[in-house]
Amino acid sequence: MRRVEIKGIVRNVSPLRIGNRGVVDFTSTAGVQLLKNSRGTPYIPGSSWKGVFRSTGEVIARKKGLRVCTGLTGDTCVDKIPEFQELIEKDIEKAKKVFWEKTCLNCKVFGAPSVLSSVYFFDSYPFTYKIGVKTIIAISRENGAVSKGALATAEYLEPNSTFSFLLLGENMPNYAIGYILSIMKEIHDGLSQVGGYKSRGFGFVKFDKLELKITHYSEKSGSGSSLLPLDELDSKVDYTQGELSGDEFFKKNSSLLEVFNNARIQYPM
Ligand SMILES: [Zn+2]
Repeated sequence: MRRVEIKGIVRNVSPLRIGNRGVVDFTSTAGVQLLKNSRGTPYIPGSSWKGVFRSTGEVIARKKGLRVCTGLTGDTCVDKIPEFQELIEKDIEKAKKVFWEKTCLNCKVFGAPSVLSSVYFFDSYPFTYKIGVKTIIAISRENGAVSKGALATAEYLEPNSTFSFLLLGENMPNYAIGYILSIMKEIHDGLSQVGGYKSRGFGFVKFDKLELKITHYSEKSGSGSSLLPLDELDSKVDYTQGELSGDEFFKKNSSLLEVFNNARIQYPM
């Protein structure tokens, strides 16, 4: 019925570190590299965004008194429906109904085993960046002790590096768009961090040049800046079109944040 696009730029206001997870070894004295593509350009993968959005969403939903699952393998709402896989194969309409009734908002928005997410995060590539190197003390993973003389170097991105940001959503109800915007605002306001070394104060980012674009494929979705409710929990709302600074974007689209806050979302579990 509709396609939702949120695009903008991301600027880190503290050092930022997106490491190469498979390679990081804090006990080695070797240089700890940033995650880079084959041409050596550091980037923030869509999967990192998805992880940050889901975990930030968890905090927001719980503050609202709602229950959401952790999304960890084997611990999603879908894992608690043992007959789900069989239902998908035998009765897809019933599977859709069961999914709707028995899964949390995070499973609906960010996906679950056998179910695609309704939002897609693109990799973020830098427009401008500067790599810094920090010396850190390597701590043994086994006993938490500082290994003898083990100083490691770690690469990070200096503050004021800028990256692209793009998120696409399919058929998201207004409260789900509001939920995504609430998550972005939490990150923008410095209440949630991105990447590694969070306890060292890394990973604070701000959004800028934000634009919410909604393409209606059906009259039932709405027209122009007017968004019709997509399901029984949803309500009608207007949003602000055009590119805005981060602060302005969240202020001018506060009606969407409110739709999320007021939605009487049912939680199973
Ligand atoms: Zn869930």
